[in-house]
Formats: sequence, C-alpha cells, structure tokens
Amino acid sequence: MSKIVVVGSYVVDLTARTPHMPKPGETVLGGPFRMGPGGKGGNQAVAAARLGAEVTMVTKVGKDLFGEDAIQNFKKEGIQSEYVQQVEEESTGAALIAVDDSGENMIVVSLGACGTITEEEVLRAEDAFREADIILVQLETSMAAIETTITLANKLTKPVILNPAPYQKFPEELLHKVTYITPNETEAGLLTGVEVTGEATAQEAAEKLIAKGVETVIITLGKQGCYLQQTGENNGRLIPGYQVKAVDTTGAGDAFNGAFAHFIAEGNSLESACTLANHIAALSVTKHGTAPAMPYLDELHKQ
Ligand code: ATP
Repeated sequence: MSKIVVVGSYVVDLTARTPHMPKPGETVLGGPFRMGPGGKGGNQAVAAARLGAEVTMVTKVGKDLFGEDAIQNFKKEGIQSEYVQQVEEESTGAALIAVDDSGENMIVVSLGACGTITEEEVLRAEDAFREADIILVQLETSMAAIETTITLANKLTKPVILNPAPYQKFPEELLHKVTYITPNETEAGLLTGVEVTGEATAQEAAEKLIAKGVETVIITLGKQGCYLQQTGENNGRLIPGYQVKAVDTTGAGDAFNGAFAHFIAEGNSLESACTLANHIAALSVTKHGTAPAMPYLDELHKQ
C-alpha cells in the first residue's frame, strides 16, 4: 500500500450551475446548487485514498459546521486526520464555484483556516512524513506551510510533488528541492513565461523548469493528457489523454495529482503513473463535483 502525506487546503465547495458565466456586475439565475468537500489538498487526498493509498492529511479548519463536516468526510474516506487541526480563531475555507453548460468553471477560493498553517503545525506531522513514501503539496495554503513541507521532505529524503496550483509567487530556490512539478498549462505559463497550448510549447516550458532545478516536469494539458520530461533528457513526451464526455472538469487536476502520487509511490514507472493518472482524471470529469467525483480503483479496472 502506498503511504502519502498531503499538506494543503480543505475548503467547502459551494457549486452553482449556470447557463452562462456572469459578466462583472451581472446576476445570473443559476441551476442546481451543490455543497460538498473540496480544496486542492483535500481533493487530492481523496483521489489517492480512493485508489487504495494510506493518506495522512495535514490541514487546518475552523471550529464551525463546515469544519466538523471536514473531519467527518476525512474519516469517511479513510484518511488519517490526526493532523487536521480545528481552530476557534479562523473559519473553514470556502470555494464559490460556477459551472456553465459546457462544463467550464470559474472559482473564487477563500482559504480561511487552511491559509494560515504555520511552520510549527507542519513540523508536528514529522512522524507521518518519516513513514511516507511521497509528500504532496499545492500552492493553496500559506507560504510557511509550503516551504516547510518541501524542506522537511528534503531533510528526510522523501520525494515531493509540488502541484503549483493555484499559482502564487514562491521562492525559486524551492524548485531545486522538488522531485516532481505538475503545473497545468496556465501555471506552466506563469512559471516560465512560455504560453503553453500543446506539446511543442509544453516542451519549451518543461525545459525551462528543468533548468530551474526541478527533477521531473509533468505539465497537464486538459483532454490532450500530459507532457512528461525528466532532467538529463533532450526531449520529453506527450502521454495522451483518454477521450470521455466531460460534464464537469472541476478537480481534474486534483484527480490527476492524487492518482499520480499513488501510482508513482506504488513503484510504477513515470510513464505508467502518468498514463494511469490521465485515466483516473478523465473518469473524474465524467461526474459532477470535485472530491465526490474522484474515481475508485475498480472504476479503472472496469474500463
Ligand atoms: P482543473 O483546474 O479543472 O481541476 P487543471 O486545469 O488543473 O484542471 P487539466 O490540465 O485541465 O488540469 O486536467 C488535468 C488532467 O485531467 C489532464 O492531464 C487529463 O489527464 C485530464 N483531463 C482534463 N480534462 C479532460 C477531458 N475533457 N477529457 C479527458 N481528460 C481530461
């Protein structure tokens, strides 16, 4: 069984369907409303756990209804929640999500408690880091939590995946300590200045990220799949995506990251882990929601 520590966000997703995205100042009468667990950290933890990984989540929520719900949800998913702190002084984060009829989304995230995780709060989970095969972190939390996670993983010689989402500026020297970086096209563009639209531009961006010190670059390219390149290789390669009928692409990146962490920690080759992660992420876009849409291992085998 793979052992994964995820350090990152938990927010409650408040999702409204809408016939079209509102323009600034416009109010649109939407369709059905859904509420459910979310946040890139929480979603990626659920994605990995549903594939059979033993996942420990490190995050912070408020002492409020959404915070109680978070702990219950982690328990229900079989995720170790010893390092999920509940605090009085902050409220649980929330994501306001609109999904239009084409399945496209717009999101505002208020991080609340999980945006205030301190260095000390990450260091408390050192025992879990020590036992883990791999550490997974995103940019959807405090810089202190991100830096401490990557530094601690390095100190313990554990591989670390940085999913640089949503993009925020971070100290570039961290890239030398990252084993795998998994930006989408937009994030790859923001990290490198290359406008990524497909294989050729992904290669250009991947080379720049490798030059900045990352060991392995995986740029996710939506339905096209992902572009994989390692240090020391002249060329990377496109790992093609799976064709499915997308109904909601929210959380596709999270499905990919949780799945990739699990499959690489299980000892699969990079190509196989990317292929399997593409497959899991494709299955996730055929369902509505983020964490609730994460596929189980038997769905992969049914294909
Ligand atoms: P999101 O922000 O919507 O969660 P993202 O922008 O972080 O997603 P993408 O690159 O869009 O990430 O998608 C991640 C992975 O999900 C892709 O590499 C691919 O494997 C899969 N995927 C995304 N969209 C589709 C689709 N329409 N059909 C099949 N696979 C998809």
